[in-house]
Amino acid sequence: MENLRVRFAPSPTGYLHIGGARTALFNYLVARKEKGTFVLRIEDTDVARSTQESVDAILQAMEWLGLSYDEGPYYQSQRTELYREKIEQLLVSGRAYRCYCTAEELEEKRQKAQAEGRKPKYDGTCRTLAAAVADKPFVVRFLAPEEGETTFVDRIKGPITFRNEELDDLIIQRSDGTPTYNFVVVVDDATMGINLVIRGDDHINNTPRQIQLYQALGCAIPQFAHVPMILGADKTRLSKRHGATSVMAYKDLGYLPEAMVNYLVRLGWSHGDQEIFSMEELIEKFSLENVGKSAGVFNPGKLLWLNEHYIKTGDPVRLGQCLAEFLQQKGLDPMDGPPLPDVVRTLQDRAKTLVEMAEGAAFYYKKELEFDGKAVAKFLTQDKIVLLKELISGLEELDLWNVETIGGVFNKILADHELKLPAIAQPVRVALTGGTTSPSIFDVIAVLGRETTLKRLDDVLPLCGA
Ligand code: GLU
Repeated sequence: MENLRVRFAPSPTGYLHIGGARTALFNYLVARKEKGTFVLRIEDTDVARSTQESVDAILQAMEWLGLSYDEGPYYQSQRTELYREKIEQLLVSGRAYRCYCTAEELEEKRQKAQAEGRKPKYDGTCRTLAAAVADKPFVVRFLAPEEGETTFVDRIKGPITFRNEELDDLIIQRSDGTPTYNFVVVVDDATMGINLVIRGDDHINNTPRQIQLYQALGCAIPQFAHVPMILGADKTRLSKRHGATSVMAYKDLGYLPEAMVNYLVRLGWSHGDQEIFSMEELIEKFSLENVGKSAGVFNPGKLLWLNEHYIKTGDPVRLGQCLAEFLQQKGLDPMDGPPLPDVVRTLQDRAKTLVEMAEGAAFYYKKELEFDGKAVAKFLTQDKIVLLKELISGLEELDLWNVETIGGVFNKILADHELKLPAIAQPVRVALTGGTTSPSIFDVIAVLGRETTLKRLDDVLPLCGA
């Protein structure tokens, strides 16, 4: 498509959730692939439910995911003048009318229709009013066509047809003068030149009404692509019951944005049986034609699997930057200790999330180790004093501090005493980390550095009874 213009149009009434993020991602990918324009529009006309906090949360989540936009954010709350003009245009052209029916009258009509087994639908009482009625509150209704059909070819779902008689004369302006959702979306998409609307399929029923509005306003109708919704494992709509639904909650749980992006895209889209995609690859390979028609099922296990993959294969410098935040949350100073990338390298194979990695990395940065009492009792025994002292002097003599030279010191002591590595590795591990699980002991010593290693070894001698 030439000059493709797509948009993401969240309502700022909460956090960016998994479904919204996927819609944003699909829009972003299509825009980048087609060298089009990605517009961000904040749909904040529902004043009672929209908050600045939500706007900030949505912007933050998009930034975290790397979904940069080219235009916006536009705010519907700043476009009221435009909406008023367009309502006026429809009133003048006879495609909209003022409706003075009161709430009670409408309720009566609704009950009557129900009693007679008809579908409740506005009966058009005010359609034919010749002139405005002074001093009486009114809504503005769209004069919808009563006959024929409204059809569109959805880029994901295929052709969809609605019978016009099923569609009401939609209220486009409330009695307080504010325009309604379906109307402002059309005005915005039309004036922003959006030519492809990618959104959740919960909006399919709005689409024929919106198409009729485009026609009445004399605007070009965009293409539509309705993305199937996301379900929980029990096949009901994804909700809090299925775990965290806010994208940023996953950041806090230690997930990487690349894992989230990779996960989201596969919720409904596929490319053969490939599972792992970089953003660059996605931009090249993504297409709406390969988005499935049926709902995707949210699978936290797979998200975790992807996260593990991206932690294992990630650039240690970048992962270190991500890890810093999690160490800080533990009250540790990531700048006061070994270089983060070195720490990351020792833990990449051992952590599925950054939370786990921070847990595993904490000992590098702690000023006071907390010792596991059982491990101390088991491994820091009197017979270890000799070994630890030999290790201390062997390490003190090293000119070069690396895994090989450190290994050499261990091997000499082991040979002299005819011992196997665990005999000394475990006591040293307890001394340096406080517990019995850690990365390879040579790696730990290499990364922890001479000064801290020797100090921690010295510190445990009294615990051994020295
Ligand atoms: N603001 C709407 C929502 O958050 C989206 C409208 C649209 O994409 O057309 O559901």
